[in-house]
Amino acid sequence: MAIDFNLSGGQKRLQRIAREFANDILAPRICRADEEPDPQKAFQEVKGAYIEAYKLGFATGFIPQQYGGGGISNLDLQVVSEEICAIDPGFATILLVNGLALMPLVWFGSEAQKQKWLITATSDPRGEYLAGWTVSEGAGSPGGTANFDSPAVWPAGISLTATHDAANGEYVLNGRKYWPCNSGGWDLAGANVNVCIVRTRKEAGGDEGLSAIIVPRGTPGVQYEEPISKLGHRICQNNSIIFSDCRIPEENAFAIGQGDLAISRAFTWSGPVAAIASVGVARSAYEYVLEWSKTYTGGGPTPIINHQAVGYALADIAMKIEACRAFAWKAAHYLDSHESQGHAICAMAKVFCGETLFDAVFKAMKVMGVNALDRRHPLERYLREAAVFPLYDAGNMGMQMRKIWTVLRDDAFDPRAFMDLTATPFDKRLI
Ligand SMILES: Cc1cc2nc3c(=O)[nH]c(=O)nc-3n(C[C@H](O)[C@H](O)[C@H](O)COP(=O)(O)OP(=O)(O)OC[C@H]3O[C@@H](n4cnc5c(N)ncnc54)[C@H](O)[C@@H]3O)c2cc1C
Repeated sequence: MAIDFNLSGGQKRLQRIAREFANDILAPRICRADEEPDPQKAFQEVKGAYIEAYKLGFATGFIPQQYGGGGISNLDLQVVSEEICAIDPGFATILLVNGLALMPLVWFGSEAQKQKWLITATSDPRGEYLAGWTVSEGAGSPGGTANFDSPAVWPAGISLTATHDAANGEYVLNGRKYWPCNSGGWDLAGANVNVCIVRTRKEAGGDEGLSAIIVPRGTPGVQYEEPISKLGHRICQNNSIIFSDCRIPEENAFAIGQGDLAISRAFTWSGPVAAIASVGVARSAYEYVLEWSKTYTGGGPTPIINHQAVGYALADIAMKIEACRAFAWKAAHYLDSHESQGHAICAMAKVFCGETLFDAVFKAMKVMGVNALDRRHPLERYLREAAVFPLYDAGNMGMQMRKIWTVLRDDAFDPRAFMDLTATPFDKRLI
Protein backbone atom coordinates (compact mmCIF):
# COMPACT_ATOMS: atom_id res chain seq x y z
CA MET A 1 0.00 0.00 0.00
CA ALA A 2 1.53 3.30 -1.10
CA ILE A 3 -0.19 5.58 1.40
CA ASP A 4 -0.66 4.25 4.88
CA PHE A 5 -1.44 6.31 7.96
CA ASN A 6 -0.99 3.34 10.28
CA LEU A 7 1.83 3.85 12.73
CA SER A 8 4.45 1.11 12.76
CA GLY A 9 4.94 -0.96 15.90
CA GLY A 10 7.97 1.15 16.77
CA GLN A 11 6.06 4.39 16.26
CA LYS A 12 3.18 3.19 18.44
CA ARG A 13 5.70 2.38 21.14
CA LEU A 14 7.29 5.84 20.81
CA GLN A 15 3.83 7.43 20.97
CA ARG A 16 2.94 5.48 24.11
CA ILE A 17 6.21 6.34 25.86
CA ALA A 18 5.92 10.03 24.87
CA ARG A 19 2.29 10.16 26.04
CA GLU A 20 3.12 8.55 29.37
CA PHE A 21 6.06 10.91 29.85
CA ALA A 22 3.93 13.95 28.96
CA ASN A 23 0.99 12.99 31.17
CA ASP A 24 2.82 11.52 34.16
CA ILE A 25 6.07 13.48 34.38
CA LEU A 26 5.59 16.75 32.50
CA ALA A 27 1.96 17.68 33.14
CA PRO A 28 2.18 17.92 36.95
CA ARG A 29 4.95 20.52 36.65
CA ILE A 30 3.46 22.72 33.95
CA CYS A 31 0.94 24.99 35.67
CA ARG A 32 3.36 26.11 38.35
CA ALA A 33 6.14 26.69 35.85
CA ASP A 34 3.84 28.63 33.49
CA GLU A 35 2.71 30.88 36.33
CA GLU A 36 6.23 31.51 37.64
CA PRO A 37 6.98 35.20 36.96
CA ASP A 38 10.76 34.69 36.80
CA PRO A 39 11.51 33.03 33.42
CA GLN A 40 14.76 31.46 34.61
CA LYS A 41 12.97 29.84 37.56
CA ALA A 42 10.23 28.64 35.21
CA PHE A 43 12.88 26.98 33.06
CA GLN A 44 14.53 25.40 36.11
CA GLU A 45 11.16 24.03 37.26
CA VAL A 46 11.22 21.57 34.37
CA LYS A 47 14.84 20.45 34.71
CA GLY A 48 13.80 17.19 36.37
CA ALA A 49 11.38 16.46 33.53
CA TYR A 50 14.11 17.31 31.01
CA ILE A 51 16.48 14.79 32.59
CA GLU A 52 13.77 12.12 32.27
CA ALA A 53 13.22 13.15 28.63
CA TYR A 54 16.96 12.94 27.99
CA LYS A 55 17.07 9.43 29.45
CA LEU A 56 14.17 8.42 27.20
CA GLY A 57 16.12 9.68 24.18
CA PHE A 58 13.86 12.65 23.39
CA ALA A 59 16.61 15.27 23.79
CA THR A 60 18.95 13.80 21.14
CA GLY A 61 16.88 11.13 19.37
CA PHE A 62 17.25 12.85 15.98
CA ILE A 63 21.07 12.58 16.00
CA PRO A 64 22.34 9.70 13.82
CA GLN A 65 23.01 6.45 15.67
CA GLN A 66 26.69 6.44 14.70
CA TYR A 67 27.11 9.45 17.02
CA GLY A 68 25.11 7.92 19.85
CA GLY A 69 21.71 9.39 18.93
CA GLY A 70 18.46 7.53 18.36
CA GLY A 71 18.56 8.02 14.59
CA ILE A 72 14.80 8.44 14.55
CA SER A 73 13.10 9.61 11.37
CA ASN A 74 11.36 12.94 10.97
CA LEU A 75 8.05 11.07 10.99
CA ASP A 76 8.95 9.40 14.30
CA LEU A 77 9.74 12.86 15.64
CA GLN A 78 6.23 13.98 14.64
CA VAL A 79 4.65 11.27 16.76
CA VAL A 80 6.72 12.14 19.83
CA SER A 81 6.39 15.91 19.42
CA GLU A 82 2.58 15.92 19.18
CA GLU A 83 2.29 14.11 22.50
CA ILE A 84 4.68 16.44 24.32
CA CYS A 85 3.20 19.59 22.74
CA ALA A 86 -0.31 18.53 23.73
CA ILE A 87 0.91 19.05 27.29
CA ASP A 88 3.45 21.83 26.82
CA PRO A 89 4.97 23.19 23.60
CA GLY A 90 7.45 25.34 25.52
CA PHE A 91 9.03 22.23 27.01
CA ALA A 92 9.08 20.63 23.56
CA THR A 93 10.92 23.70 22.27
CA ILE A 94 13.80 22.98 24.66
CA LEU A 95 14.16 19.56 23.01
CA LEU A 96 13.68 20.92 19.50
CA VAL A 97 16.40 23.53 19.93
CA ASN A 98 18.95 20.82 20.67
CA GLY A 99 18.19 19.64 17.14
CA LEU A 100 18.29 23.11 15.60
CA ALA A 101 21.76 23.51 17.10
CA LEU A 102 23.20 20.07 16.41
CA MET A 103 21.68 19.07 13.06
CA PRO A 104 23.69 21.79 11.22
CA LEU A 105 26.77 20.06 12.62
CA VAL A 106 25.51 16.78 11.16
CA TRP A 107 25.05 18.42 7.75
CA PHE A 108 28.00 20.83 7.59
CA GLY A 109 30.51 19.70 10.25
CA SER A 110 33.76 17.75 9.71
CA GLU A 111 33.98 14.16 10.91
CA ALA A 112 36.29 15.23 13.75
CA GLN A 113 33.79 17.88 14.89
CA LYS A 114 30.93 15.38 14.81
CA GLN A 115 32.91 12.83 16.80
CA LYS A 116 33.75 15.43 19.40
CA TRP A 117 30.56 17.43 19.80
CA LEU A 118 27.77 15.03 18.88
CA ILE A 119 29.05 12.17 20.98
CA THR A 120 29.36 14.52 23.96
CA ALA A 121 25.75 15.57 23.38
CA THR A 122 24.45 12.01 23.39
CA SER A 123 26.49 10.66 26.30
CA ASP A 124 25.80 12.93 29.27
CA PRO A 125 25.46 10.59 32.26
CA ARG A 126 23.53 13.28 34.17
CA GLY A 127 21.06 13.89 31.34
CA GLU A 128 21.33 17.67 31.66
CA TYR A 129 22.96 18.36 28.30
CA LEU A 130 21.64 21.43 26.44
CA ALA A 131 22.61 22.96 23.10
CA GLY A 132 21.71 26.50 22.01
CA TRP A 133 20.99 27.53 18.42
CA THR A 134 22.21 31.08 18.59
CA VAL A 135 21.08 32.97 15.51
CA SER A 136 18.51 35.67 16.33
CA GLU A 137 19.42 39.22 17.17
CA GLY A 138 17.63 42.02 18.97
CA ALA A 139 15.47 44.78 17.58
CA GLY A 140 17.23 47.85 16.20
CA SER A 141 18.24 49.65 13.05
CA PRO A 142 19.92 47.66 11.72
CA GLY A 143 18.86 44.73 13.84
CA GLY A 144 16.53 41.76 13.87
CA THR A 145 16.96 38.43 12.16
CA ALA A 146 14.62 38.07 9.18
CA ASN A 147 17.16 39.63 6.78
CA PHE A 148 20.07 37.40 7.84
CA ASP A 149 20.82 36.84 4.15
CA SER A 150 20.81 40.50 3.13
CA PRO A 151 23.58 41.14 0.57
CA ALA A 152 24.37 44.40 2.39
CA VAL A 153 27.60 44.53 4.39
CA TRP A 154 27.88 44.61 8.20
CA PRO A 155 26.08 45.75 10.32
CA ALA A 156 23.05 44.77 8.17
CA GLY A 157 21.76 41.25 8.80
CA ILE A 158 23.62 39.16 11.37
CA SER A 159 25.90 41.51 13.27
CA LEU A 160 27.69 39.28 15.82
CA THR A 161 31.22 39.40 14.42
CA ALA A 162 33.88 36.70 14.51
CA THR A 163 37.22 38.20 13.53
CA HIS A 164 39.82 35.66 12.47
CA ASP A 165 43.03 35.94 14.47
CA ALA A 166 45.10 33.66 12.24
CA ALA A 167 48.29 34.15 14.26
CA ASN A 168 46.66 32.57 17.31
CA GLY A 169 44.39 30.17 15.43
CA GLU A 170 41.25 31.73 16.92
CA TYR A 171 38.11 33.66 16.14
CA VAL A 172 37.24 36.62 18.36
CA LEU A 173 33.49 37.19 18.87
CA ASN A 174 31.96 40.57 19.62
CA GLY A 175 28.31 41.63 19.65
CA ARG A 176 24.97 40.44 20.96
CA LYS A 177 22.28 37.82 20.40
CA TYR A 178 18.66 38.00 21.52
CA TRP A 179 15.98 35.27 21.57
CA PRO A 180 18.01 32.03 21.31
CA CYS A 181 16.64 29.20 23.45
CA ASN A 182 18.63 27.05 25.89
CA SER A 183 21.73 29.24 25.44
CA GLY A 184 22.06 30.32 29.06
CA GLY A 185 21.82 26.78 30.41
CA TRP A 186 20.23 25.69 33.68
CA ASP A 187 22.32 28.15 35.71
CA LEU A 188 22.74 31.08 33.24
CA ALA A 189 26.41 30.16 32.92
CA GLY A 190 25.84 28.73 29.45
CA ALA A 191 24.44 25.70 27.65
CA ASN A 192 26.96 22.90 27.10
CA VAL A 193 27.46 24.37 23.65
CA ASN A 194 26.07 27.32 21.76
CA VAL A 195 26.15 26.95 18.00
CA CYS A 196 26.42 30.61 17.00
CA ILE A 197 25.83 32.09 13.58
CA VAL A 198 28.45 34.80 13.21
CA ARG A 199 29.68 37.31 10.68
CA THR A 200 33.13 36.07 9.67
CA ARG A 201 33.41 38.66 6.87
CA LYS A 202 32.19 42.14 7.70
CA GLU A 203 32.82 43.38 4.18
CA ALA A 204 30.59 40.65 2.68
CA GLY A 205 26.81 40.31 2.72
CA GLY A 206 24.89 37.68 4.66
CA ASP A 207 24.93 35.52 1.54
CA GLU A 208 28.73 35.09 1.78
CA GLY A 209 29.92 36.32 5.12
CA LEU A 210 28.17 34.07 7.67
CA SER A 211 29.56 30.98 9.40
CA ALA A 212 28.81 28.79 12.41
CA ILE A 213 31.00 28.62 15.51
CA ILE A 214 30.66 26.32 18.50
CA VAL A 215 31.00 28.21 21.78
CA PRO A 216 31.44 25.76 24.66
CA ARG A 217 30.17 26.43 28.18
CA GLY A 218 32.72 28.20 30.33
CA THR A 219 34.28 30.22 27.52
CA PRO A 220 35.39 33.64 28.86
CA GLY A 221 33.82 36.71 27.25
CA VAL A 222 30.18 35.52 27.17
CA GLN A 223 27.56 37.01 29.47
CA TYR A 224 23.99 35.72 29.76
CA GLU A 225 21.48 38.32 30.90
CA GLU A 226 18.12 37.59 32.53
CA PRO A 227 15.97 35.55 30.09
CA ILE A 228 13.10 37.17 28.21
CA SER A 229 9.67 37.07 29.87
CA LYS A 230 7.21 35.98 27.17
CA LEU A 231 3.47 35.74 26.58
CA GLY A 232 3.57 32.03 25.73
CA HIS A 233 6.06 29.14 25.74
CA ARG A 234 7.04 30.54 29.12
CA ILE A 235 8.84 27.37 30.10
CA CYS A 236 11.59 27.55 27.51
CA GLN A 237 14.40 29.96 28.17
CA ASN A 238 15.00 32.74 25.63
CA ASN A 239 18.25 34.56 26.09
CA SER A 240 19.95 37.88 25.75
CA ILE A 241 23.68 37.29 25.29
CA ILE A 242 26.68 39.62 25.15
CA PHE A 243 29.97 38.54 23.55
CA SER A 244 33.01 40.63 24.44
CA ASP A 245 36.36 39.56 22.93
CA CYS A 246 35.26 35.95 23.27
CA ARG A 247 38.08 33.78 21.85
CA ILE A 248 37.20 30.48 20.20
CA PRO A 249 39.63 28.01 18.60
CA GLU A 250 39.29 28.00 14.83
CA GLU A 251 38.65 24.24 14.81
CA ASN A 252 35.23 25.10 16.33
CA ALA A 253 34.12 26.83 13.12
CA PHE A 254 32.10 25.12 10.40
CA ALA A 255 29.87 26.05 7.47
CA ILE A 256 32.34 28.83 6.75
CA GLY A 257 30.70 31.27 4.34
CA GLN A 258 27.66 28.95 4.38
CA GLY A 259 25.96 30.26 7.51
CA ASP A 260 22.96 31.42 5.45
CA LEU A 261 22.45 27.86 4.20
CA ALA A 262 22.84 26.49 7.73
CA ILE A 263 20.11 28.85 8.96
CA SER A 264 17.76 27.95 6.11
CA ARG A 265 18.31 24.23 6.42
CA ALA A 266 17.88 24.18 10.20
CA PHE A 267 14.61 26.12 10.07
CA THR A 268 13.44 23.84 7.25
CA TRP A 269 14.13 20.78 9.40
CA SER A 270 12.20 22.28 12.32
CA GLY A 271 9.22 23.36 10.16
CA PRO A 272 7.26 20.10 10.43
CA VAL A 273 7.96 19.96 14.17
CA ALA A 274 6.58 23.46 14.65
CA ALA A 275 3.59 22.40 12.52
CA ILE A 276 2.82 19.35 14.65
CA ALA A 277 3.37 21.43 17.81
CA SER A 278 0.41 23.56 16.79
CA VAL A 279 -1.59 20.36 16.22
CA GLY A 280 -0.75 19.18 19.75
CA VAL A 281 -1.96 22.40 21.36
CA ALA A 282 -5.12 22.62 19.22
CA ARG A 283 -5.88 18.97 19.99
CA SER A 284 -5.81 19.67 23.71
CA ALA A 285 -8.02 22.74 23.33
CA TYR A 286 -10.46 20.80 21.16
CA GLU A 287 -10.70 17.80 23.49
CA TYR A 288 -11.30 20.05 26.50
CA VAL A 289 -14.02 22.06 24.78
CA LEU A 290 -15.68 19.00 23.24
CA GLU A 291 -16.09 17.51 26.70
CA TRP A 292 -17.30 20.85 28.06
CA SER A 293 -19.87 21.14 25.26
CA LYS A 294 -21.29 17.73 26.07
CA THR A 295 -21.84 18.55 29.73
CA TYR A 296 -22.39 22.32 30.02
CA THR A 297 -25.84 23.75 29.36
CA GLY A 298 -25.22 27.50 29.71
CA GLY A 299 -28.45 27.67 31.71
CA GLY A 300 -30.45 26.16 28.86
CA PRO A 301 -32.30 22.84 28.73
CA THR A 302 -29.58 20.86 26.97
CA PRO A 303 -25.77 20.62 26.70
CA ILE A 304 -24.51 23.28 24.32
CA ILE A 305 -23.28 20.76 21.74
CA ASN A 306 -26.94 20.26 20.83
CA HIS A 307 -26.99 23.78 19.42
CA GLN A 308 -26.12 23.50 15.77
CA ALA A 309 -23.85 26.57 15.83
CA VAL A 310 -21.71 24.96 18.54
CA GLY A 311 -21.60 21.63 16.72
CA TYR A 312 -20.54 23.24 13.45
CA ALA A 313 -17.80 25.19 15.21
CA LEU A 314 -16.48 22.00 16.80
CA ALA A 315 -16.59 20.26 13.42
CA ASP A 316 -14.59 23.11 11.92
CA ILE A 317 -11.94 22.78 14.63
CA ALA A 318 -11.75 18.98 14.21
CA MET A 319 -11.35 19.27 10.42
CA LYS A 320 -8.53 21.75 10.76
CA ILE A 321 -6.65 19.57 13.24
CA GLU A 322 -6.92 16.50 10.99
CA ALA A 323 -5.84 18.46 7.90
CA CYS A 324 -2.89 20.01 9.70
CA ARG A 325 -1.69 16.70 11.14
CA ALA A 326 -1.72 15.21 7.66
CA PHE A 327 0.20 18.19 6.28
CA ALA A 328 2.80 18.07 9.05
CA TRP A 329 3.32 14.32 8.48
CA LYS A 330 3.56 14.87 4.73
CA ALA A 331 6.28 17.49 5.20
CA ALA A 332 8.18 15.21 7.60
CA HIS A 333 7.87 12.34 5.13
CA TYR A 334 9.25 14.61 2.42
CA LEU A 335 12.26 15.37 4.63
CA ASP A 336 12.78 11.66 5.24
CA SER A 337 12.66 11.06 1.48
CA HIS A 338 15.17 13.81 0.61
CA GLU A 339 17.94 13.73 3.22
CA SER A 340 16.33 16.42 5.35
CA GLN A 341 15.88 18.85 2.46
CA GLY A 342 12.38 20.16 1.80
CA HIS A 343 12.66 23.89 1.84
CA ALA A 344 9.30 25.05 0.57
CA ILE A 345 7.03 22.27 1.80
CA CYS A 346 8.34 22.35 5.37
CA ALA A 347 7.88 26.11 5.51
CA MET A 348 4.38 25.69 4.05
CA ALA A 349 3.43 23.19 6.74
CA LYS A 350 4.84 25.39 9.49
CA VAL A 351 3.05 28.51 8.27
CA PHE A 352 -0.26 26.85 7.41
CA CYS A 353 -0.64 24.81 10.57
CA GLY A 354 0.47 27.59 12.92
CA GLU A 355 -1.86 30.16 11.39
CA THR A 356 -4.81 27.78 10.96
CA LEU A 357 -4.65 26.35 14.44
CA PHE A 358 -4.25 29.69 16.19
CA ASP A 359 -7.66 30.45 14.72
CA ALA A 360 -8.92 27.01 15.78
CA VAL A 361 -7.84 27.52 19.40
CA PHE A 362 -9.58 30.89 19.48
CA LYS A 363 -12.68 29.27 18.00
CA ALA A 364 -12.56 26.69 20.79
CA MET A 365 -12.61 29.59 23.25
CA LYS A 366 -15.66 31.03 21.53
CA VAL A 367 -17.43 27.67 21.80
CA MET A 368 -16.70 27.55 25.51
CA GLY A 369 -17.76 31.12 26.05
CA VAL A 370 -16.67 33.51 28.75
CA ASN A 371 -15.43 30.69 30.98
CA ALA A 372 -12.56 30.20 28.52
CA LEU A 373 -11.03 33.35 30.00
CA ASP A 374 -11.10 31.96 33.53
CA ARG A 375 -7.57 30.79 34.34
CA ARG A 376 -8.96 27.77 36.17
CA HIS A 377 -9.47 26.38 32.68
CA PRO A 378 -6.52 25.78 30.33
CA LEU A 379 -7.91 27.62 27.30
CA GLU A 380 -6.25 30.96 27.92
CA ARG A 381 -2.89 29.17 28.17
CA TYR A 382 -3.53 27.29 24.93
CA LEU A 383 -4.23 30.59 23.19
CA ARG A 384 -1.01 32.09 24.55
CA GLU A 385 0.91 29.02 23.38
CA ALA A 386 -0.76 29.07 19.95
CA ALA A 387 0.12 32.75 19.51
CA VAL A 388 3.80 31.78 19.44
CA PHE A 389 3.51 29.45 16.45
CA PRO A 390 3.26 32.08 13.68
CA LEU A 391 6.04 34.14 15.29
CA TYR A 392 8.82 31.74 16.34
CA ASP A 393 10.99 29.27 14.46
CA ALA A 394 11.92 31.77 11.75
CA GLY A 395 8.72 33.84 11.89
CA ASN A 396 6.20 33.26 9.13
CA MET A 397 6.24 36.61 7.36
CA GLY A 398 9.90 37.54 7.47
CA MET A 399 11.55 34.17 6.79
CA GLN A 400 9.26 31.18 6.14
CA MET A 401 6.92 32.76 3.58
CA ARG A 402 9.94 34.32 1.89
CA LYS A 403 11.51 30.86 1.60
CA ILE A 404 8.38 29.44 -0.04
CA TRP A 405 8.24 32.37 -2.42
CA THR A 406 11.89 32.08 -3.52
CA VAL A 407 11.53 28.35 -4.24
CA LEU A 408 8.30 28.87 -6.21
CA ARG A 409 9.65 31.69 -8.36
CA ASP A 410 12.72 29.68 -9.46
CA ASP A 411 12.41 28.79 -13.16
CA ALA A 412 13.44 25.21 -12.41
CA PHE A 413 10.72 24.71 -9.77
CA ASP A 414 8.36 21.85 -10.54
CA PRO A 415 4.90 22.65 -9.10
CA ARG A 416 4.20 18.91 -8.85
CA ALA A 417 7.37 18.16 -6.88
CA PHE A 418 5.56 17.77 -3.57
CA MET A 419 2.80 15.68 -5.11
CA ASP A 420 5.30 13.46 -6.95
CA LEU A 421 7.77 13.44 -4.05
CA THR A 422 10.63 14.58 -6.28
CA ALA A 423 13.48 16.73 -4.96
CA THR A 424 13.30 20.52 -4.79
CA PRO A 425 16.93 21.65 -4.99
CA PHE A 426 17.83 24.57 -2.77
CA ASP A 427 20.99 26.63 -2.93
CA LYS A 428 22.30 30.09 -2.21
CA ARG A 429 20.57 31.49 -5.27
CA LEU A 430 17.22 30.77 -3.65
CA ILE A 431 17.77 32.16 -0.16
C1 LIG B 1 9.75 30.39 21.90
C2 LIG B 1 10.78 30.94 21.00
C3 LIG B 1 11.94 30.21 20.74
C4 LIG B 1 12.94 30.74 19.92
N1 LIG B 1 14.09 30.03 19.79
C5 LIG B 1 15.12 30.55 19.09
C6 LIG B 1 16.37 29.88 19.03
O1 LIG B 1 16.56 28.82 19.61
N2 LIG B 1 17.38 30.46 18.33
C7 LIG B 1 17.22 31.63 17.68
O2 LIG B 1 18.18 32.11 17.07
N3 LIG B 1 16.02 32.30 17.70
C8 LIG B 1 14.99 31.79 18.39
N4 LIG B 1 13.77 32.45 18.44
C9 LIG B 1 13.55 33.62 17.57
C10 LIG B 1 12.70 33.18 16.33
O3 LIG B 1 13.28 32.17 15.57
C11 LIG B 1 12.33 34.29 15.35
O4 LIG B 1 11.40 33.72 14.51
C12 LIG B 1 13.42 34.85 14.53
O5 LIG B 1 14.26 35.63 15.36
C13 LIG B 1 12.89 35.72 13.43
O6 LIG B 1 11.96 36.64 13.93
P1 LIG B 1 11.22 37.67 12.99
O7 LIG B 1 10.85 37.02 11.71
O8 LIG B 1 10.16 38.30 13.81
O9 LIG B 1 12.44 38.67 12.64
P2 LIG B 1 12.58 40.22 12.63
O10 LIG B 1 13.89 40.45 11.96
O11 LIG B 1 12.42 40.81 13.98
O12 LIG B 1 11.42 40.71 11.67
C14 LIG B 1 10.22 41.29 12.18
C15 LIG B 1 9.13 41.36 11.14
O13 LIG B 1 9.52 42.22 10.09
C16 LIG B 1 8.93 41.83 8.86
N5 LIG B 1 10.03 41.57 7.89
C17 LIG B 1 11.36 41.76 8.11
N6 LIG B 1 12.05 41.47 7.03
C18 LIG B 1 11.18 41.04 6.09
C19 LIG B 1 11.32 40.59 4.76
N7 LIG B 1 12.50 40.53 4.15
N8 LIG B 1 10.20 40.24 4.09
C20 LIG B 1 8.99 40.31 4.69
N9 LIG B 1 8.80 40.74 5.94
C21 LIG B 1 9.89 41.11 6.64
C22 LIG B 1 8.11 40.61 9.16
O14 LIG B 1 6.79 41.00 9.47
C23 LIG B 1 8.77 40.04 10.43
O15 LIG B 1 7.88 39.20 11.11
C24 LIG B 1 12.77 31.98 19.29
C25 LIG B 1 11.61 32.70 19.51
C26 LIG B 1 10.62 32.21 20.37
C27 LIG B 1 9.42 33.03 20.63
